[in-house]
Amino acid sequence: MKVAVVGTGYVGLVAGACFADTGAHIICIDVDEAKLERLRRGEVPFYEPRLPEIVRRNWPARLEFSSDLARSVGGCDAVFIAVGTPPNEDGSADLTHVLDVAEAVAKAATHDLVLVLKSTVPVGTNAKVCETVAAHAKHKISVVSNPEFLKEGDAINDFLKPDRVVIGTDDDDAFEILRRLYAPFVRQNNRILRMSPKSAEIVKYAANALLATKISFVNEIASLCDAAQGDVEHVRAALGADRRIGYSFLFPGLGFGGSCFPKDLRALVSTARSLGVHCGVAEAAIAANETPQRNMLGYIERSLGQLEGKTVAIWGLAFKPGTDDVREAPALRLVVDLVARGMNVRVTDPRAMDTAREDLRHRGIEAKVTFVADNYEACRGADALILATEWPEFRNPDFVLLRSLLKGRHVFDGRNVLLPESVVEAGLIYRGVGRPALGS
Ligand code: NAD
Repeated sequence: MKVAVVGTGYVGLVAGACFADTGAHIICIDVDEAKLERLRRGEVPFYEPRLPEIVRRNWPARLEFSSDLARSVGGCDAVFIAVGTPPNEDGSADLTHVLDVAEAVAKAATHDLVLVLKSTVPVGTNAKVCETVAAHAKHKISVVSNPEFLKEGDAINDFLKPDRVVIGTDDDDAFEILRRLYAPFVRQNNRILRMSPKSAEIVKYAANALLATKISFVNEIASLCDAAQGDVEHVRAALGADRRIGYSFLFPGLGFGGSCFPKDLRALVSTARSLGVHCGVAEAAIAANETPQRNMLGYIERSLGQLEGKTVAIWGLAFKPGTDDVREAPALRLVVDLVARGMNVRVTDPRAMDTAREDLRHRGIEAKVTFVADNYEACRGADALILATEWPEFRNPDFVLLRSLLKGRHVFDGRNVLLPESVVEAGLIYRGVGRPALGS
């Protein structure tokens, strides 16, 4: 089978590499020549565990990289669209890239093919793409909705062993092509779910909205614990033990971030509104996501007093461990807020220093932040440490060394992953999220 994947980001490159790994011939297409150049040198331009080895073992035999969409589409059974769908000002999804690619594929097609929407798009996009394609194509182009559920940091595992593969199409031939392409990944039991394109489009947003709601919910419970002097870690442990609830996505922290949850919730609310539907739960999950950040700033202000001129070290910049993605990362929001309060901010992250630097440059505050490669060195002379992303190497640090490097004694655990008693034994003061402070 020959397949083109347009957009070589976290989704497109993972999909292309994993399909190639099953023997399919894949052409990955992007407009970013610098990215393609790095890929042709065997380098993966972003951090995703296991991805480089899969790319290297398939390139160039079954995996090609090209910026020439028109030529690449020739002979393909299917073309996947995996380009970005960033938010517009009003929260709706910007479909410009998706529609541009659809039009280009339709114009370039020299035979019938399947056009697969893998980007996350609001319900009704499949129909829009069908219109675009119909206006430009000379051949039959069947538009299928096939949302992607992988998560950064564990994307390869998610793609190779999906909980489900959703295929939204009314066309039996198109379904058959996708069924065959995905067959190697669903051998243990067939987890391919066929449905209408509209249902497939809704599933993706519904899944993300529900997961984000779980996070916002437990963060609200953490605020309640703060006010009532409970301990959210005890509450969480007992909540998750109920199998109807489960432990996943029930971790209090600094709120959800990343390239998907914030934008997809806003897009869901926006699409629903345009259809006359009020998605109150999703709206509340978005609003509640502001609270953890405010709470953390409150902890810091109450502990350090006047913030201006004080120094803070921040461990972690990525929106979660296992990725270098800083899009809508809570850690970066914190950096911005603390810089705005006149603090000297020293940051470190095992993988996301470059992406964070780029983001802060765009915001015009890169020069106000000190990037330090070593996480202990970042603490030297600082009044406090904030753990903002729970990378494994931050979970059990040498607290005695930390105590000797820090000028102050406050450790703010924005992810509740440190052992409070270890922090306090070293003579430091522990403050987690939604749990009593420890040490004095
Ligand atoms: P990304 O920003 O990492 O990659 C998108 C790529 O598309 C970029 O390399 C960009 O250069 C390329 N591109 C843009 N316009 C193009 C065009 N006209 N032709 C060719 N290439 C073009 O994005 P991503 O994180 O991979 O997300 C892609 C889509 O998948 C989004 O809709 C996103 O919501 C969805 N999604 C993302 C994840 C995730 O965890 N990142 C998970 C599931 C779904």
